[in-house]
Amino acid sequence: MPPATDDATAALDLLRAEVEACTLCDLHATRTRSVAGDGDPGAGLMFVGEAPGYHEDQQGRPFVGQAGKLLDKLLGGIGLSRDDVFIANVLKCRPPNNRDPRPEEIAACRPHLWRQIALIEPRVVCTLGNFATKLLSGDPTGITRVHGQPRVAEIGGQRLYLYPIFHPAAALYTPATLTTLEDDFRRLPDLLAQAAPAEGAEAAAPPAAERPAWQPPERLRPSVASSPARPQEGAASGGPVAAAPAGPAAADTPPAGPEPDGHDAPAGPEQLGLF
Ligand code: URA
Repeated sequence: MPPATDDATAALDLLRAEVEACTLCDLHATRTRSVAGDGDPGAGLMFVGEAPGYHEDQQGRPFVGQAGKLLDKLLGGIGLSRDDVFIANVLKCRPPNNRDPRPEEIAACRPHLWRQIALIEPRVVCTLGNFATKLLSGDPTGITRVHGQPRVAEIGGQRLYLYPIFHPAAALYTPATLTTLEDDFRRLPDLLAQAAPAEGAEAAAPPAAERPAWQPPERLRPSVASSPARPQEGAASGGPVAAAPAGPAAADTPPAGPEPDGHDAPAGPEQLGLF
């Protein structure tokens, strides 16, 4: 990935300062700290979660609780670390008691996220759970239907692959969701190895089987070799298809129960709820 320009880094710092001072929605009154986002300003891969939870609100950093630990582990499994990616959220401030984000909060906070994407220019934006997926895709289809299926999107003037996966917090409580999340995560390197989607790329991405295997950067190879191995199931079925919104036939077998999403502890079932 090309390094971020000084201009983009400076603009992201400015944006962070704006987010820290932001009063565009009521959440500013209850936050301890805002959580603008963290990582490499020139990252090719960006993650977008839902909203800060308790620990993020305390520390001012995204994904530092249990869900964050799982995200770190999943990243390690594909030879990456937090420093190689950029991690942000739909909302930059914690909703009280980790309640669901409200439409007016999402609308107020959206320009911050769009600017981050425009400045970072990631090739792949991986949306974690329902809120991020629905907001960035502009499609109300839930995560259970669309997870693991890349699509081409244009966000912040940037043409990129949107890759929805389950929220790590949901996988903390549901083993079947964890398995699905791990499977989807394993397809990320292939997607990152794709060229940035070009005009009319919707139908152009080749199936995974036709693409060369992704090689992690040299310095990261040992951690790939030692990453926890699971049997590689159905690898050919999950490649970038740059799909239109998936219909029922395209859906993987959904885990039982409601569509997962969520925050970190202190967690209750309502935090895994949907909108
Ligand atoms: N859940 C999120 O969606 N974002 C965080 O930063 C932490 C937990």
